[in-house]
Amino acid sequence: MTGKRETVFRGNGVSPGIVLGQALKLDSQHRVVLRTSVPAHLIDEEVNRLETAIAASREQLETLKARLEKEVGFEQSYILEANLLMLDDRSLIAEMAGIVRQEQANAEWAVRCVEDRIRRAYLSLDDQYFRERVSDIESVLERLILNLSGAKPLRWETLPQDVIIVAQAFNPAFFATIDLERVRGLALEGGGRTSHTAILARSLGLPAVMEIRDFIPEVTTGDTLLLDGDEGRVILHPSPERLGSVRIRLEEFLVMAQPPAPAGTATATRDGVRVVLKANTELPLEVLVAQRSAAEGIGLFRSELLFLKNAGHAPTMEDQLETYSMLAREMSPHPVAVRTLDLGAENGWSGVDISGQSNPSMGLRGIRLSLVKEELFAAQVEAILRASCSGKVEIVLPMIASVEEVRAAKAVIERIGRELLDACGPAVAAVPIGVMVEVPAAVISLEALAHEVDFLCVGTNDLIQYLLAVDRGNPKVAHLFQPLHPAMLRSLGRIASVAAAQNKPVRICGEMSANPVFAVLLLGMGFTELSMNCMSIAHIRKVIREVTMTSAAEIARRALEFQTAGETAEFLLAEVGRVVTCDLSPYVREVVGVDSGGMASQAANAPIR
Ligand code: PEP
Ligand code: MG
Repeated sequence: MTGKRETVFRGNGVSPGIVLGQALKLDSQHRVVLRTSVPAHLIDEEVNRLETAIAASREQLETLKARLEKEVGFEQSYILEANLLMLDDRSLIAEMAGIVRQEQANAEWAVRCVEDRIRRAYLSLDDQYFRERVSDIESVLERLILNLSGAKPLRWETLPQDVIIVAQAFNPAFFATIDLERVRGLALEGGGRTSHTAILARSLGLPAVMEIRDFIPEVTTGDTLLLDGDEGRVILHPSPERLGSVRIRLEEFLVMAQPPAPAGTATATRDGVRVVLKANTELPLEVLVAQRSAAEGIGLFRSELLFLKNAGHAPTMEDQLETYSMLAREMSPHPVAVRTLDLGAENGWSGVDISGQSNPSMGLRGIRLSLVKEELFAAQVEAILRASCSGKVEIVLPMIASVEEVRAAKAVIERIGRELLDACGPAVAAVPIGVMVEVPAAVISLEALAHEVDFLCVGTNDLIQYLLAVDRGNPKVAHLFQPLHPAMLRSLGRIASVAAAQNKPVRICGEMSANPVFAVLLLGMGFTELSMNCMSIAHIRKVIREVTMTSAAEIARRALEFQTAGETAEFLLAEVGRVVTCDLSPYVREVVGVDSGGMASQAANAPIR
């Protein structure tokens, strides 16, 4: 339909669904360059604007070069010399001016087109040296774009209604600022299934494909993309035949993307075992989706976005109180578990200085940060406790590794509870306190930790990461991120038995809950409270209603006998496939392990088209 050649890019489908839309390419600062048309009588002025921006960029680079020469010596400053030469290249400038004149387009657009062309040319070379020079070219041309347009914030109202965001990375905080009515999907080169961006995409029902290789240079804003989150691929300039072949799926997804109908009765297995399904949320507006999917509470409210949306300063106690109270009121009579601030490696926040840590996932984060920045923690605790006047709330402490941490956090909570007693009444003292079990030390010393708290939440995403020493956001080790690793299954078994022995409620909060194969396994291991992204609740409810606890327990017992994740995966896919009617194929990749050399990679290598 566009006359351009169709190209298929493979990636990891981290959020299901299929959508057609127009690419909106963001740079690392989440800026976008759009094409606007320039009236004929203003073309000369537009070319002048380009020349002025080139002169300004040249001046800035001269200043930088002089500084570099002074500080590190003449030899090092040659890098900037190469950048300057680019700005002196008359043929390049003529190419940009030519685009402005011929396409009657804005200068920023002309620079971006030239940048895309050069980047493509360099990346097509076999020579590693030239491939690495791409970032130099980008930095010069990005400077030029910046000088042309300044860092203007994106104006969503000017964008089309069917945007597919294309970026290297996409900070989850950016979700708070985008117009979700216009965004149909995410196509990223970075990320991973358990990155917060992926989790949030699933929760919002936004199809997403991540870890797409060599994709960004080929795409220009406005290009037509077919994004298939089920198959994990993105098709640039889809052919009419391709579009014809997916038309029904596109329509079906549009219908399915409508919020699921309330489920009416409570969830139970076929043999009558009650199962509680809760929602994991992070945006306040997700409460609507949680309600519509008949979640029995918010099992995990990730509070980070409240902080991340205000670069540099924390939300006030009052701001937080407003959000937590709204959640408690809306979810009533069900509880809302607010997890205290868990800033991690992927979502650095400028409000506190946690930079300069060479290994941030193991650094000052989660409860460790809260105990160091007590004023931040105290304000959040006060807001959660005060929200108990509006409905049921719970506190969940993240990244707990020791009893000392729990005791120190409880001391703060109890002190604030005492101070609030007069104003808020006894409800504040009764707010249940739980911990995330997501660090191996917590699993190993769970007996002692469980004694300290009212309930347990299992963070399977982090537990897999820390147990297996596999960075959950690093595509290079994605094949080692194995939820079915025997160590993980034994850890889960241990958690279930300690919780049962102490009669403590335990909830699975990681992404494993949202996968039907894992959900049956978890159920069979004794986990009857599962919290997951809102969009998966209806599906998991259906799966649970189809199985009996007896069959799930038998499957779980046998699954624990295998020595490798691969054997367990094969067994589970076959056995769960026998007891449920839903199509398990969209979940195979996650069960088997991405690109693990098992079924997933065989499927990935199969010819397409
Ligand atoms: C987890 O670690 O599994 C979890 C639920 O928390 P998060 O994904 O926010 O780290
Ligand atoms: Mg976690």
